[in-house]
Amino acid sequence: SYVDSSFDYYRFTDIISKEDNEFRLKLRAWLEKEVQPTINDYVERAEFPEEYIPKIRETQVFHYLVDQPFGKGKSILTQGVMAAELSRIDAGLGTFAIVQAGLLTATIDQLGNENQRQKYVPLLRDLQLTGGWGLTENKFGSDATSLQTTVQKTEGGWLLNGDKTWIGNGNRDIMVVWARNVENNKIQGFIVDLKAKGVRSEVLKHKLALRIVQNCQITFTNVFIPEENMLSKATDFQKGTAKILLHSRLMVCWLVAGICMGVYDNVIKYISNRKQFGVPISSFQLQQEKLARIMSNTQAILLFAHRISQMYDNKKITLGQVALAKAFCTERAREVARLGREMLGGNGIIFDNYVMKAFADIEALYTYEGTYDINSLVGGRELTGVAAFKVPK
Ligand code: FAD
Repeated sequence: SYVDSSFDYYRFTDIISKEDNEFRLKLRAWLEKEVQPTINDYVERAEFPEEYIPKIRETQVFHYLVDQPFGKGKSILTQGVMAAELSRIDAGLGTFAIVQAGLLTATIDQLGNENQRQKYVPLLRDLQLTGGWGLTENKFGSDATSLQTTVQKTEGGWLLNGDKTWIGNGNRDIMVVWARNVENNKIQGFIVDLKAKGVRSEVLKHKLALRIVQNCQITFTNVFIPEENMLSKATDFQKGTAKILLHSRLMVCWLVAGICMGVYDNVIKYISNRKQFGVPISSFQLQQEKLARIMSNTQAILLFAHRISQMYDNKKITLGQVALAKAFCTERAREVARLGREMLGGNGIIFDNYVMKAFADIEALYTYEGTYDINSLVGGRELTGVAAFKVPK
């Protein structure tokens, strides 16, 4: 016999309520039965699995990924655990969920007015409406606060001009766009209809990580945004955008935990069955040392995700605390994926065994929501009191 579930080994099941854990187990069983057998065909074709949308809606997992009162999300801890389960099967599916729930929906929920919340959040929760969240531009990635997409007041609303890139789900219904107000130079958030006149969106091709996620290059040419789509609490980068980045970076730690769980759970099964030199390869010391490293890293990531979630739920957490966790978790997960891939020998490069997917996908998570370097610097700024983003002149 062997330990087949890394989430259960240190009883992480105890950190959520019995009822939520029952939902988690139902979700895991559903994902293994309905998604696992077909997802890799979509991964291979780099295609988003549209057929899953009505089925995912039925599971109601998005109700858990959205805060109350519109969703069932009782805490970010519960939300994180559910997101990890999606990522354990495919980090692209986990990323789709976090863009939809942790970025787009959370922005409207936290920074929108009552009308916007009532209009959009239930539709987003039920996946009747799907979409993305746009901060990154062609010329401004890490240096996001320098972004150059602009909004200008016009009769009844605003005119939007500029570009966004890497936008996950940017070919769907709506997105949140962060743009500079030409009058006061502040960065503001808007809900933009992706079918509006002047919006041109193209899916980025040749991506070797998170293959089912449709990342888009989008240009806005004199796009009219009605006044009612301006997010009234999103009128400043530090108070608006940064608040959402804290939330979504925290959720990335859970996606990373899910990737590591997927690696361990697949590896243990494989090495227990595969025989060489007349014995299961799990009997070899070198395999056990690597497996121990995978398990320990996975638990460290889960502990980090757990602790920052508790702090978030207690409303006592800083940008630096989350940034350090995001940097650490993604960096450790790179080792987990590498070891897992290596332990499966030749079969380690086949999608079906998960580890090669993890190996490629973790590179995207290491980079999005702020690279490892940038998150280390956000943490470093808080630890030292000195910002080190710019080379001194
Ligand atoms: P750059 O900023 O050009 O950085 C290149 C390198 O320079 C990196 O190694 C970086 O760490 C380093 N570097 C930069 N500045 C510094 C510094 N001051 N000190 C030290 N090193 C530095 N964005 C969105 O808005 N919405 C999305 O939905 C979205 N989804 C994404 C999905 C994927 C798969 C990917 C890969 C990206 C996505 N992004 C999205 C964009 C992502 O947030 C950026 O890629 C990321 O912030 C890094 O920006 P960049 O790629 O322009 O790299």
